[in-house]
Amino acid sequence: MALSLTLGIVKPDAVATGKTGKIVAHLQDAGFALRAARLVRLTPAEAGAFYAVHRERPFYADLVSFMTSGPCLPMALERSDAVGALRQVIGATDPAEAAPGTVRKLYAESKGRNAIHASDSDENARREVAFFFTESELAGLWG
Ligand code: UDP
Ligand code: MG
Repeated sequence: MALSLTLGIVKPDAVATGKTGKIVAHLQDAGFALRAARLVRLTPAEAGAFYAVHRERPFYADLVSFMTSGPCLPMALERSDAVGALRQVIGATDPAEAAPGTVRKLYAESKGRNAIHASDSDENARREVAFFFTESELAGLWG
């Protein structure tokens, strides 16, 4: 299958507890190449816009608060079937339900503070990669 990009974010819980390196290594061991990354502290407006699809959900305010609580690490990740593969590697939203060996089973604290984000479709991957990285930072990876 052709190579594609997806967006991952090491979330503030995992950055704050020093798990960033282990999570990046886990993703590289799973065949992902790190094509762009930057440690950022999101503003409430940025986190709110990124998660706008969840605006009406009961957990939205807590999610925005959590995602702005400290630095996070957005990453453009490249692999064959990048979106589907990353969803497999991170595991279920709630670490209690995540499969053994997944990033969330290994590193997440709870359903809310769950260590990592991953895009859920190719369309959202494009939007989410573009949310954090310019075309020149991606060096023409979208082709
Ligand atoms: N979330 C939460 N409570 C819920 C569902 C989601 O706190 O009941 C948070 C959690 O951090 C999750 C994020 O909102 O990762 C986005 O939710 P989504 O359903 O898109 O889960 P994901 O795609 O991250 O697995
Ligand atoms: Mg999601």
